[in-house]
Amino acid sequence: MRIREVVVTPVAFPDPPLLNSAGVHQPWALRAIVELRCGDGLVGLGETYGDAPHLELLRAAGATLVGLDPFDTNRLWRRVCRVLGGADSPDRHGLTGDSSPQKTALRVFAPFEVACLDLQGHLTGRPVADLLGGKVRERVPFSAYLFYKWAVHPTADGPASLVGGLPPVDDPYPAALDPAGIVAQARQLIDEYGFGSIKLKGGVFPPDEEIAAIRALREAFPDLPLRLDPNAAWSVETSVRVARETEGLLEYLEDPTPGIPGMAEVAKAAPMPLATNMCVVSPADIPPGFGQGAVGVVLSDHHYWGGLRRSAELAAICRTWGVGVSMHSNSHLGISLAAMTQLGAALPELTYAADTHTPWQCGVDVLERPLPITGGAVTVPDTPGLGVSLDRDALARLHENYLRCAIRERDDTSYRRIFEPEYTKRRPRW
Ligand SMILES: [Mg+2]
Repeated sequence: MRIREVVVTPVAFPDPPLLNSAGVHQPWALRAIVELRCGDGLVGLGETYGDAPHLELLRAAGATLVGLDPFDTNRLWRRVCRVLGGADSPDRHGLTGDSSPQKTALRVFAPFEVACLDLQGHLTGRPVADLLGGKVRERVPFSAYLFYKWAVHPTADGPASLVGGLPPVDDPYPAALDPAGIVAQARQLIDEYGFGSIKLKGGVFPPDEEIAAIRALREAFPDLPLRLDPNAAWSVETSVRVARETEGLLEYLEDPTPGIPGMAEVAKAAPMPLATNMCVVSPADIPPGFGQGAVGVVLSDHHYWGGLRRSAELAAICRTWGVGVSMHSNSHLGISLAAMTQLGAALPELTYAADTHTPWQCGVDVLERPLPITGGAVTVPDTPGLGVSLDRDALARLHENYLRCAIRERDDTSYRRIFEPEYTKRRPRW
């Protein structure tokens, strides 16, 4: 069985105005859907970022994969590296740390690796979790991912024309700009999905306001683990102060400050573990990051750690160092959720609920039957491969969104500046 055709389809889906330390989410989130077709209707699926520079690299790599055996992911890696050379493609938002040619290669490789594993599952009749060592859990827990947010995307000053039109429907989540709004959002998400842990995306308001939100969450949900992630918006000094003031409240504090040396300094004084998806983001970061004791938890993300097997390798390295493993998320669709679920099922090291943006999709997807989150977890499918299949009509609709919207690269900062011309991205800000 060989790969006969590689199809990369960019899609766009409505994204609510979620705030972070880089700015605010644009009205459309971009993704690329990867299909590896082997004939007889057999298709392997992958999903990744849809930004134009990444798309160009995906297409260049995809063109070299015809004829590849889907079990030969070592050859896949060599072909991707050969076609990329030393190419680098940084993100503008910088929410997943600095880029490098190594990270770019892993990021381009990842959706093809996931699609190959999906094919391997179909060819062997086994779920991907079995190919990763077998299930250690039947259900993979996810956390409620809270955001400060505006009620709707503002329409003043004509942003609709700048982004190619606003999405047709508003999201069901009202504005959340203070502790009461954050608690209400948590209730809404927990009522609908049953989440058993809570993460707040911070770095938006001065730290004392975000500490107040954490205290309000603790009062409203006394038994649920809490996390706070300001995306490196704080200095070392501010981070240490917040860490001390939130002692006993947080299961971990995520990326309070930029860079491995700064994180190491905060880690020495913080009473809780520090987690990261910003300072240890590729293999080259592991020796300095772990060696300096900068992090107690790594938020793995198969989209840039090079797919599911390499994410499992990362978890094994974390185990050796006594570092915990959690899972990071950017805005995504159901193929990514299925991949995270299969990986989460097979990772003994995953002892925290994973992040997911799934509720913020507001039900939009490219799948026939997206895996549901119930009771705060996704039940791992026993069907072959990832356990999901494409809804071709939905894929066509989301591709049409992409063609209509003017966004070609995620840029939270520029979008926020449409409404607040003085806004700048600063890390640290406080
Ligand atoms: Mg983070």
